[in-house]
Amino acid sequence: MRVEDHIGLSAGMAVVALPWLKRKVWIPFASSVLIDVDHYLWFAVTHRELSLRAAARHFGQADPPQLAQTRLLHHPLALGTLLVAAAATRSRILWLVLGGLLFHVGLDAVDVAQTRSLKLRLIEDADHKCERCGQQYDLLQLHTRHVAANPFDHYNPRHFAVLCPTCHEREHDQK
Ligand SMILES: [Zn+2]
Ligand SMILES: [Zn+2]
Repeated sequence: MRVEDHIGLSAGMAVVALPWLKRKVWIPFASSVLIDVDHYLWFAVTHRELSLRAAARHFGQADPPQLAQTRLLHHPLALGTLLVAAAATRSRILWLVLGGLLFHVGLDAVDVAQTRSLKLRLIEDADHKCERCGQQYDLLQLHTRHVAANPFDHYNPRHFAVLCPTCHEREHDQK
């Protein structure tokens, strides 16, 4: 899920939680947004490149490599450690940070499941043929044509295309 989507959804969560958390509402909000910093740090270290734009380009390529190392803060071990620390110290702040992180990871999990089932359905509908070149492939890649501003319209099949790796890369290179 994109950082922009996380900011929007976390802001929604913050508005709902505001009556209970009052001034502390920024804590879960900030942690649910800043958790994605792990992607950027991984990129900066491994590519020796501090440019945010280069990092965005890397993660925005047609079929970015899905490496667990890029998601260290999303890892169950990191979340589990924080849980133990929060329970041991009974720190309200740590619980709020953990709540924000879990909110983010939960949204990611929903997004992965939704995207996966959408992709399989579109491949089935396209009869395994690439929408650009018409060649048949076992596994096509899901390309996002357009990101809907309305979150409820996010997984509308109209916004996506299933393409072969070659056509998909070409599509991203044109941007
Ligand atoms: Zn193709
Ligand atoms: Zn794409």
